[in-house]
Amino acid sequence: MREFRYERPSTVAEAISAVAGDPDADFLAGGTTEVDLMKDGVFHPDLLVDITRLPLRGVRKNGTMLQVGALTTMEELAADRTLIERAPFVREALLLGASTQLRNMATIGGNLLQRTRCRYFRDPAVPACNKREPGSGCEAVASVARMHAILGASRDCIALHASDLAVALVALDAVVHLQSEDGERTVPLTQFYLMPGDTPNRENVLRHGELITAIDLPLPPEGIRSTYLKVRDRASYEFALTSAAVALTMDGSVITEARIAMGGVGTIPWRGFEAEEVLRNAPATPDAFRSAAEGMIHDPYVVPGTAFKVELAKRTLVRALTEVTS
Ligand SMILES: Cc1cc2nc3c(=O)[nH]c(=O)nc-3n(C[C@H](O)[C@H](O)[C@H](O)COP(=O)(O)OP(=O)(O)OC[C@H]3O[C@@H](n4cnc5c(N)ncnc54)[C@H](O)[C@@H]3O)c2cc1C
Ligand code: SF4
Repeated sequence: MREFRYERPSTVAEAISAVAGDPDADFLAGGTTEVDLMKDGVFHPDLLVDITRLPLRGVRKNGTMLQVGALTTMEELAADRTLIERAPFVREALLLGASTQLRNMATIGGNLLQRTRCRYFRDPAVPACNKREPGSGCEAVASVARMHAILGASRDCIALHASDLAVALVALDAVVHLQSEDGERTVPLTQFYLMPGDTPNRENVLRHGELITAIDLPLPPEGIRSTYLKVRDRASYEFALTSAAVALTMDGSVITEARIAMGGVGTIPWRGFEAEEVLRNAPATPDAFRSAAEGMIHDPYVVPGTAFKVELAKRTLVRALTEVTS
């Protein structure tokens, strides 16, 4: 049993100041990632700053934007009428994640910052994990790896980014609002996450003491065809082996605009700019879908346990595209 301090401030400034003032302090939202890691002995904070009383909860439509407070729960966002009507694939991504109980606790900010499910990262008895202990090596590369990444991976780390929501939001070009003692800034979600490179312990551009206050979701045009397809080992309460967020605008049988991102494949939520380019102004045909999938999954980094994902990911995207255009 390790002791830690706990504070529950009521203003954003107090919360930021409390975490910024202690290098071993962290924010606590729904706790569904944070407390798990503490119980597993992976994370040992000196101070937990509970942010659940901060006024950062709720969803508001502002013109062509949906502004989501960072403390909005996954269930609350999934129930929002505008989201259901204008970006149903985001709702699907939310509801295909975790369980109802978890989604009622888990916040949108916390979801975007959840840690990898790599079993070696979550087991402190395993000494080699560059994400936990920089410079110690990567057990997953040399051992059994299955729920791991094939894109953006390296011999230093093949940990998968686990959030379903982040995949849908990357496709939507969501923007994250951040606040720290230095002021406020915004970062496009496509630039928020960092690939492991030789610093797998750094996962995003967030600085210590910086708080996610809100996320802007640009609403896609009315009439888009979209889906979030999640392929997994069992039908519920399971992380993705592969997943695809697809949002298309069509003119007859021609795709005029495409938004594509994939999960289960990348060290970060993987936006498919090349696949989108292939599909833009292309007819909705099996050949076009397969070309898009080839553009999406190229130069994979595989270990024996993840090699199956290359073809599975391509087929996942082809199936998602086929479903939305049928
Ligand atoms: C059994 C299980 C199954 C799951 N299945 C899925 C799944 O299928 N798909 C999926 O996407 N997710 C899944 N999850 C993950 C779940 O969605 C996340 O644990 C949850 O969204 C985290 O939100 P939270 O509010 O509980 O965050 P917390 O656990 O409180 O925090 C997580 C991290 O974010 C930081 N943080 C939180 N809020 C902020 C903020 N506003 N600003 C700055 N830092 C912040 C915390 O300091 C911490 O480091 C699963 C989790 C469990 C336990
Ligand atoms: S894949 Fe990354 S998180 Fe997993 S053991 Fe290797 S370094 Fe650690």
